[in-house]
Amino acid sequence: MPPRLPALIADPPPSDDRLWLANARLLDGIAPSPIEGASVLVEDGRIALVARAGEAPPEGCRTIDLAGRTLLPGLTDAHSHVGLAFEKPVPLSGAETLLPGTLAHVLAAELREVVRMGITTVRDVGSIGDIVVEARQAMRYGAFSGPRVLTCGRIVSPTGPGGRFFAGMYREADGVDDVRRAVREQLRYGADFVKVMTTGARTVELEDPDPPQLTRDELTALVEEAHRMGYRVCAHCEGLPGTELAIEEGVDTIEHGMYLNQRPDLLERMAANGQTLVPTLSFLIGLAEARSATWTPLLVELGRHNVEQAQLTLVAAREAGVTLAMGYDSSPLRTATNELLALIDFGLTAGEALAAATTGSAYALGLDDAIGTVEPGKLADLLVVDGDPLSEPGVLCDRARIWLVLRVGTAVAGSSLETSL
Ligand SMILES: [Zn+2]
Repeated sequence: MPPRLPALIADPPPSDDRLWLANARLLDGIAPSPIEGASVLVEDGRIALVARAGEAPPEGCRTIDLAGRTLLPGLTDAHSHVGLAFEKPVPLSGAETLLPGTLAHVLAAELREVVRMGITTVRDVGSIGDIVVEARQAMRYGAFSGPRVLTCGRIVSPTGPGGRFFAGMYREADGVDDVRRAVREQLRYGADFVKVMTTGARTVELEDPDPPQLTRDELTALVEEAHRMGYRVCAHCEGLPGTELAIEEGVDTIEHGMYLNQRPDLLERMAANGQTLVPTLSFLIGLAEARSATWTPLLVELGRHNVEQAQLTLVAAREAGVTLAMGYDSSPLRTATNELLALIDFGLTAGEALAAATTGSAYALGLDDAIGTVEPGKLADLLVVDGDPLSEPGVLCDRARIWLVLRVGTAVAGSSLETSL
């Protein structure tokens, strides 16, 4: 299916600055090991040339000497609840309550920090209200610099307890015609892809995450409608019967999917079909550990089991050759690279985790023609870090060592732009 790129419509206009990023240690997302002394020419917001050591800059470029720092593709968070996962101010007793427009400014500040951390693309898999598309539109018109944001609009879900727990985040739909209409409503809204709750969620006590929540006919209609119009489908999948249905019906990305280690045949099928797994480890770990004081005992117990299962699945999926993407599914948005460390903790190499955050996530979003590697023709969404993410992946979580971030060829963030007086 040819990818649709509506999200790129909201990209800022390319800079007319021609940049020569010289003397880089380049992790281009293609070669298995770094290329020392490389230079990259950026023009019209795109990568025009990747040069080996010793090549001179073309005429009329502004040179930025990276002095051996590591240059890599901007990172992608493929599973985020953009409109929810930021810290909201809580007025003290006696202070005025939050005004209707205040949170939009708080989200803008958060999105500036997201790009400051080298995350240049975020996929919003469900939020409430219009705050996400409003922020995206504000970025389009230059109000502030943040990541590219793709959104699903409302999550399509059958009528169920989750619709009550997450009021406003779901478009509940029942029956083939209503599901089809729900998909069309999201496209009308400006969604970049369609998200569906194939199974219940482990965060809702009243939902059983095992059986498929939709009938096969409903899911067939949803996928058919989205694909026919050129949009990808992302499915919340926990229990195996629902996950199997999603895989069979041609969903493009499987979110969570933590029990798949029990069904190697399904992992093989995903690999053969080019379906991506987004493991969202951070959320599972958070629910099982840090948040155990705030969740019900039943959900925490299930959460602990899910962490064990997710670890087994990560390793099994890697062995099966399934494309993996990095999805944080936690808050605040700015700390999404913690997921990269979790992927490494649970068994990936640093190179594999980095691939999940770049090429794997770009593929998951259908944007692999535009982002995810450093090669001629790709958009110049680039990241320069002060250190080696392969031997020290924590550098990607260290704000002080995120040296420069480019979005569509413009230097928008990084410690090098913040020299003090
Ligand atoms: Zn989620």
